[in-house]
Amino acid sequence: MKPSLFDYCSPTSVGEVVAALVADPGAMILAGGQSLVPAMNLRLASPTRLIDLKNVADLADIQVDNGVIKIGAMVRHRDLELNDEVYAANPLIRKMMRFVAHVPIRNCGTVVGSLCHADAAAEMPLLLVLTGGTVTAVGPDGSRDIAAKDFFQFHMTTSRAPDEMIVRANIPVLADGAGYAFHEFARRQGDYAIAAAGATVSLDGDNRVTRARVGACGVASTPVLLEAVEQAITGAQLSQSTIADAAEKAKDAVTAPDDMHASTGYRKHLLAGLVRRVLGEAGQRAAGGAIK
Ligand SMILES: Cc1cc2nc3c(=O)[nH]c(=O)nc-3n(C[C@H](O)[C@H](O)[C@H](O)COP(=O)(O)OP(=O)(O)OC[C@H]3O[C@@H](n4cnc5c(N)ncnc54)[C@H](O)[C@@H]3O)c2cc1C
Repeated sequence: MKPSLFDYCSPTSVGEVVAALVADPGAMILAGGQSLVPAMNLRLASPTRLIDLKNVADLADIQVDNGVIKIGAMVRHRDLELNDEVYAANPLIRKMMRFVAHVPIRNCGTVVGSLCHADAAAEMPLLLVLTGGTVTAVGPDGSRDIAAKDFFQFHMTTSRAPDEMIVRANIPVLADGAGYAFHEFARRQGDYAIAAAGATVSLDGDNRVTRARVGACGVASTPVLLEAVEQAITGAQLSQSTIADAAEKAKDAVTAPDDMHASTGYRKHLLAGLVRRVLGEAGQRAAGGAIK
């Protein structure tokens, strides 16, 4: 299929992008086009105008500043994945990024585009939730930061106002000494997750968990933090049996209905297994050795 007719503009500043959004409520922003263009070809999206970000200045910058990795709206997945300063600041990012589609798509698609697209099975929205990150939106009334937990509202639905543009994502660096892990189950490498889980874990000298963040995607209408799992391990000594008991609590977070890829029951089973793996691996990285 072909897209329906649309106008096109290529502004050079954020102010012009916002003015174009205000002027035409049917307009949509075009970043890497890896999700929007297929959606247009299938007529799932029929924007009256595309506002192309490619000529807007200063959107392709990555900065690690004051404990935060700032990712401009035109930073491609691959730029972030290969950036060594970002890897040093938060190695979880590179770990997760390798599950996003395939290299040619990561060469074109942007991280912020993925956040705005907000697929409930996508890795970058989970990254933002898991790290407690934010996005910075600019609209006609100025700029605001939106926390990940408030940004993702439903599958492919965010709290961005129609006349706002997201100018960057802000992801905290990994806490000193924290362990991290991410595992995903998909039909093929590069497909969206049927279920995926990530974790960051900090331990004290006795292997007791001082801080844990555990999250999942593909299992609900948005990426979710697995708070029951976090609570079950925080303060506890991280042993194989603590991990196994905590992982069972992840099952309650699965609300996705049966679909052609998996039943709800199968996703619960998968998620518990993935959570066991990420807790074990993150704990091992934090402890600098195997968890008993
Ligand atoms: C075959 C294939 C497999 C894929 N597999 C995966 C996968 O496994 N995991 C995964 O996470 N992704 C996957 N993707 C999607 C890919 O990651 C996209 O690059 C990404 O979702 C969207 O980024 P984009 O820059 O291409 O955005 P676009 O397609 O240009 O835009 C996507 C949406 O975001 C909006 N938007 C973009 N930028 C902004 C902004 N700055 N402010 C406000 N709104 C904005 C657009 O209007 C549009 O609604 C896949 C894509 C393809 C084609």
